[in-house]
Amino acid sequence: MRSYFIETWGCQMNQHDSELIEGQLRDYGLVAASDASDADLVILNTCSVRERPVHKIVSRIGALEKMLNPPIIGVCGCVAQQEGTELLKRSPSVGFVLGPGKIASVGEAVRAVEKGQREVLIGFDAERDHNYHSIFRKSSTRGMVTVVEGCNEFCTFCIVPYTRGRELSRALPDVVEEVRHLASTGLKEVELLGQTINAYKCPETGSDFADLLTEVASVPGLARVRYVTSHPRHFNPRLIDVLADNPKVSRYLHLPFQSGANEILDRMHRRYTREEYLELIVNLRNVVPDINLSTDVIVGFPGETEEYFQHTLDLLQEIRFGQVFAFAFSPRPHTPAARYVDQVDEATKMERLHRLFALTEQISSELNQKLVGRDIPVLIDGDSRRDPNHWQGRGEDNRVVNFAKCGREGVGDIVDVRITRAGAHSLVGERTSGDGRLPVFGAA
Ligand code: SF4
Repeated sequence: MRSYFIETWGCQMNQHDSELIEGQLRDYGLVAASDASDADLVILNTCSVRERPVHKIVSRIGALEKMLNPPIIGVCGCVAQQEGTELLKRSPSVGFVLGPGKIASVGEAVRAVEKGQREVLIGFDAERDHNYHSIFRKSSTRGMVTVVEGCNEFCTFCIVPYTRGRELSRALPDVVEEVRHLASTGLKEVELLGQTINAYKCPETGSDFADLLTEVASVPGLARVRYVTSHPRHFNPRLIDVLADNPKVSRYLHLPFQSGANEILDRMHRRYTREEYLELIVNLRNVVPDINLSTDVIVGFPGETEEYFQHTLDLLQEIRFGQVFAFAFSPRPHTPAARYVDQVDEATKMERLHRLFALTEQISSELNQKLVGRDIPVLIDGDSRRDPNHWQGRGEDNRVVNFAKCGREGVGDIVDVRITRAGAHSLVGERTSGDGRLPVFGAA
């Protein structure tokens, strides 16, 4: 085998896993192909959180099999963990199946395939390998860093604890060392990753996420620290203080609430109430008034009546999130909610989802409009997708900003941009004065 191509579905954790897979394949001597049809090995790094994941993977395997020179297929990620050896039976082209807990073994799996064997590696070891030197990072501005793997929450709709295993925190010194390494290579921003990142507990020292965030934010050369995903019930006052006191910590917080009705939250096993969530937001905004909040919402969870759905809309109105990721409930294998008898019909789910989207688009637009006329520091990620004469970057609160190139700035710079227009999903602005090379924050 000489070349590889990776297709990634799902969340940041999967995107970061693909970086680790790619790094190992390159270490093994394989080169990147520009397209699946040119590759000897195609990795499908799968997600099973959303609808019909197995169906999607099986149909993709079928399409790859029909290619003129069908590649060897490696299935990784959550569907690999969920389906295991079944995937080998789907097609002789599937050479290996690696669950999320085994992706550090990609090199081993490729070697086995070259010897004519087919590997299935799933499950979770008590300790996991975090060799960050093997990670192939494409971004020259920001790097993702795993902090917590797996989840212990067992929300009744979610498959993650089954496909990514139980919560496992990395040692604080390991995380900080990786962040130092990234900063030394010139990256300005890190994004700390975990399914329930604020449940972090260092296995060596007992330090919590507030401690970790403080340590990471003090790494010289780093300008910004982001983190996903926080769970409301693990958001403690110390963590709020760290956000308030540390300007390097992003003014963006993703805090899923899932439903505005206590009856549904209880059935989801979320272990907080609507009132507790609201109180948390008030406390946060008291100390970080400009925080940009985003959230996840599930529409049509079993037992959701029109009245319960209205509670969700009311909560959205009350809090006014900058961004809302909303999905219609879809049953996942192994999860209790899949067995609930009072499922909501598809037409009702879609109708509610449309109403919710109409509301959230309106709120996002209104919030973004308020930024018109403001100067905000923007970290340049690269060319705008729509116009190569424009840059695309992000503000401190993670909002996407596009602005015309001046020729004095480049990828990785943090520059001041005055916002001139705003839509529901992004902002448009123009560079203000400055030489375009100086980071806004005093990165030492
Ligand atoms: S907190 Fe709940 S929704 Fe989030 S990953 Fe864990 S089980 Fe899934």
